[in-house]
Amino acid sequence: MSKAPRVPIMRIILLGAPGSGKGTQAQRLQKDLGLPQISTGDLLRKAAVSGSEFGLQAKMAMDAGELVSNSVVLEMMKERLSACDVGSGYVLDGFPRNQIQAEGLDTVLSDLGQTLDAAVFMDVSHEVLMKRLTGRRTCSKTGKLLNIHFSSQQDLDECIEAGGTLIRRDDDNEDTIRNRLEVYERETEPLITYYRKCRLLQVVDADTSADKVYTRLRKVLVGSRVTESD
Ligand code: ADP
Repeated sequence: MSKAPRVPIMRIILLGAPGSGKGTQAQRLQKDLGLPQISTGDLLRKAAVSGSEFGLQAKMAMDAGELVSNSVVLEMMKERLSACDVGSGYVLDGFPRNQIQAEGLDTVLSDLGQTLDAAVFMDVSHEVLMKRLTGRRTCSKTGKLLNIHFSSQQDLDECIEAGGTLIRRDDDNEDTIRNRLEVYERETEPLITYYRKCRLLQVVDADTSADKVYTRLRKVLVGSRVTESD
């Protein structure tokens, strides 16, 4: 009987600019390796839809391309990382996003007796980031992430034929995108150095198709001998 491959790296941070593909790759890791994707952006958007006071405050920050307050995000993550589905690991997507959150995460993990295995920086050029962000859409029917510049016509048609529409995120407009990228450079980029010092940093060139990026990411994390054709 064939055994499932042992996956040595379990608790992973995906670091990268808005549009670097963290969400797409986290979804693939979840499907392929069974590691739950924990996306602060998704959790905050869910809270916003719920209409709670906290959710509405979070939505204001998100729509402006600003960060939601550290205390709120850290509290939310403390609860999420204590849930029962994270026993065999997880992929953090969009968290931590600044030094305070990174230090807060260290404390939460040490309280939970957990350690991180890798922080993967997904490296993408500014030009490609802009195209990805302005073209990004989600299928309302399937939840599939698509891009009007990069997805195949077949994938886009599939959504429409399934009765879905291509939804643009509220914060994917030019002004907010510019601010999100500025906030990223100021607040999040320094975490590359932070995790390099902790000897957890891995870098993946993510300037190419989602399939090729996943092959690279998987190789870095699992060390599998998957080949890619360039
Ligand atoms: P992207 O990485 O493309 O910006 P996300 O879904 O990760 O998309 O985040 C969307 C927005 O949610 C951010 O611009 C920010 O307002 C908020 N957000 C997400 N994660 C955090 C976080 N860790 N701390 C503070 N705000 C966050």
